[in-house]
Amino acid sequence: MTVYLVGAGPGDPGLITRRGYELLSRAEVVLYDRLVDKRLLLAARQDATLVYTGKQPGHTDRQPDLNEQLIRYGRSHDIVVRLKGGDPFVFGRGGEEVQALNEAGIKVEVVPGITSAIGVLTSAGIPATYRGMARSITIVTGHTGTKEISGETQLETPLKSIVSPSGITEYDEAETAIPEDGEDNIDWNCLAKLKGTLVILMGVDNRAEIASRLIGGGLSKSTPVAAVENGTTVYSRTVHTTLGHLADIKLKAPAVIAIGQVAALDLIDSTQLPLSGLSIVNTRSRNQAEPFSSLLRDAGAEVIELPVITFKPPDDGGLELRRHAAWLNRYDWIVFTSANAVEAFFACLRDARDLGGIRVASVGTMTGAALRERNVVADIIPDKEQSTAGLVDIMPAAGPISGRKETGRVLYPKAAGAPPTLGDGLRKKGWLVDEVIAYRTVPATRDDGITDELIEMAKHADAITFTSPSAVYAYLELVEDRKVPSVVACIGNTTANAARDSGLAVDVVAKEQSAEGIVRGLIEFKKRLAGE
Ligand code: SAH
Repeated sequence: MTVYLVGAGPGDPGLITRRGYELLSRAEVVLYDRLVDKRLLLAARQDATLVYTGKQPGHTDRQPDLNEQLIRYGRSHDIVVRLKGGDPFVFGRGGEEVQALNEAGIKVEVVPGITSAIGVLTSAGIPATYRGMARSITIVTGHTGTKEISGETQLETPLKSIVSPSGITEYDEAETAIPEDGEDNIDWNCLAKLKGTLVILMGVDNRAEIASRLIGGGLSKSTPVAAVENGTTVYSRTVHTTLGHLADIKLKAPAVIAIGQVAALDLIDSTQLPLSGLSIVNTRSRNQAEPFSSLLRDAGAEVIELPVITFKPPDDGGLELRRHAAWLNRYDWIVFTSANAVEAFFACLRDARDLGGIRVASVGTMTGAALRERNVVADIIPDKEQSTAGLVDIMPAAGPISGRKETGRVLYPKAAGAPPTLGDGLRKKGWLVDEVIAYRTVPATRDDGITDELIEMAKHADAITFTSPSAVYAYLELVEDRKVPSVVACIGNTTANAARDSGLAVDVVAKEQSAEGIVRGLIEFKKRLAGE
């Protein structure tokens, strides 16, 4: 029965606060604004109700309706998150929402966010203050104050709105001209005299008027100006100009306009990392998207997580796996071929000591990493081809075991529908193999929290990565028109062949089958393209 007003930060989904993220992942209802990056919604519970509060037909001032909606959800649900771009109390009408909720007797908590007014500049290498250059920051709306123009106010002016590839909905700021003197409650003459940094939000359409009023107030035409579009995202674009030329530059909302000496600075070279400027889709499942996403980000890429597959327990709910895990002392080996199998198996392990002296075979670096996370170091890992055939090759043959009548026994927790190659191969080497279904791989659907906007973002990214054939199939099922980004990167030959068989052109096949291998492959590909 609490409504949380949560600041989503300026754009990059990584810039929400921990508290905000945690609430988002627990909320039963999430009401989100136009400026909120749609990737953040993946953090919501799969059964959460997601409500878009952007443009609706009929416009006029929707705030009263929105307040009503918040009150209604606040009465009927325990945790309601009202997700707002930037900081909830900076030009977002968050104050009004809190008041309305207070009046209705509903508990409210406000979680601050990084405001675009400062964060967007920082990420573009423009410090809002700088010793000796700017000792104040003044944040101003380029709109009309709270005055209603054509039935719309402040933020509520999306006459036209389309989803940009960045997932930030662009909107047209037309018909919001600064009114004639006297009606405008902003004293531009005064602002012209401040000497610090002036930051204008929602000022794209009125920039000519703003410049001329500031110049009229005595600010020099040569004052540096920087405008940052789509800040903190890979689509970010910074234009450096002067006040005299602000009207002449091309500029699209959303943009932050900084006016003052600091606007001439450019302290961060955003092109310094090998994958800078590229947006890359990571199709791994939610629980496995990391650490791959982090590796891509560290290399400078903007990551779009589109978890095309989800993992479900086996049809029997995991009963059989639990039964085998409870009787481990009869096994000589456990073989793991995926991080999921590792996860499912360890969830059934009652006591770490039950593993005793059982030897562990593992194929794939991600599988190995999942084991290491649980403090298990595999005894054998194929050193060349990371495939089940490679594993069969290096497994010893089962010999008669002293003191026992039967030959050695292997436990193989696997995915439903996994090919029989590994089990058959091991049996040929004399092993008794218990193949137990540990999980099912299911293509994700819109019910799994994947929104149309997220799919649009993914399709328009620069590159997409696949780490298994099932991810390829699931992506093509999810994206009805089967459009893929222009660069397709696969973790290995099996996945690449699945992609080719499905009609995709594969540009990158990782040399080592690992997350690092894909990142390296993408970097080499980019270098080749650039002719380096
Ligand atoms: N509460 C928000 C501001 C809402 S007003 C905050 O604290 O950031 C909306 C304006 O914010 C836009 O018109 C634009 O000027 C600015 N803005 C928000 N996100 C932005 C982004 N990613 N890049 C550039 N400007 C942005």
